Amino acid sequence: MRTVRLLSGRRMPVLGQGTWRMGEVPSDRETEVEALRLGIDLGMTLIDTAEMYGDGQAERVVAEAIGDRRREIFLVSKVLPHHATIKGTIQACEASLSRLETDYLDLYLLHWRESYPPLEETLDAFQALKQRGLILDYGVSNFDLDDMLDAFSLPGGSEIVTDQVMYNLKHRGIEWDLMPWCRDHNLPIMAYSPIEHAPHDQRGMLDHPAILDIAARLGATPAQIALAWLLHQDGVVAIPKASRPEHVRENRAAVEIKLSDEDLEALDAAFPRPESKVPLAVR
Ligand code: NAP
Repeated sequence: MRTVRLLSGRRMPVLGQGTWRMGEVPSDRETEVEALRLGIDLGMTLIDTAEMYGDGQAERVVAEAIGDRRREIFLVSKVLPHHATIKGTIQACEASLSRLETDYLDLYLLHWRESYPPLEETLDAFQALKQRGLILDYGVSNFDLDDMLDAFSLPGGSEIVTDQVMYNLKHRGIEWDLMPWCRDHNLPIMAYSPIEHAPHDQRGMLDHPAILDIAARLGATPAQIALAWLLHQDGVVAIPKASRPEHVRENRAAVEIKLSDEDLEALDAAFPRPESKVPLAVR
């Protein structure tokens, strides 16, 4: 699997597996564990989770999927803003480590920013966790450019290695200012909701004729085109969530899809780049 280099020098795979909505329904647990294991076998060793998902249960699903393969995995979890005081962050991290049955995280993120606690506190806690070896790197999520500028002005801010944000063909707002700024600072973007799968009764991004045309021509699925578009860009990591084995296999195969200049132009025409500032999209 291709990787991106983090500011710390460590490397993160460009395609991983999301886990939001996992661990919520006990009868789905085995399927979810199997899906994550299949993804790991296929090389999708980056796993993105959070204390919030399933109220901790997603982390338990992840632990079961990883089993004794921890050293192969790039493991990401997140602290909720209302836990993100100095003491609270450290406690939340220790609880995540316990549910994940591991003694370190590769990356720990602040899930989103709230007015309290001040960001300084969370950054102090991240530094303390890093010094103790409980996390190897830290970053943020759902930070727009003004939040990044605030963070980088604080002690420990310049050690942030990524911003995890909603980014897909339908939500390209970050291309206006956040993404160029992250590129200038050598920060990869982690693109969440990369497929933006819509419920069965709604038309979503994947039903757009531009995507359907390219998919039909390349013998690919619409979801693969959505992922291939993200993955052709430098410094973008995608973390689709899939519980069905066929989805896991499709997502892995998207790494091999090469979009031509004409394909990219057709996608730009169907899903235009931003022409002015767009507030960050959040889920
Ligand atoms: P997503 O990955 O774009 O979409 C997930 C949905 O797409 C699921 O219903 C899944 O179905 C379906 N799917 C997966 N692969 C598919 C394929 N090849 N073809 C058709 N459908 C496919 O959305 P997401 O879960 O919102 O985002 C991904 C991950 O990002 C999350 O799981 C989470 O880890 C992270 N995230 C982070 C934040 C944040 O605030 N930091 C917010 C949202 C998400 P099945 O499960 O049935 O296979």
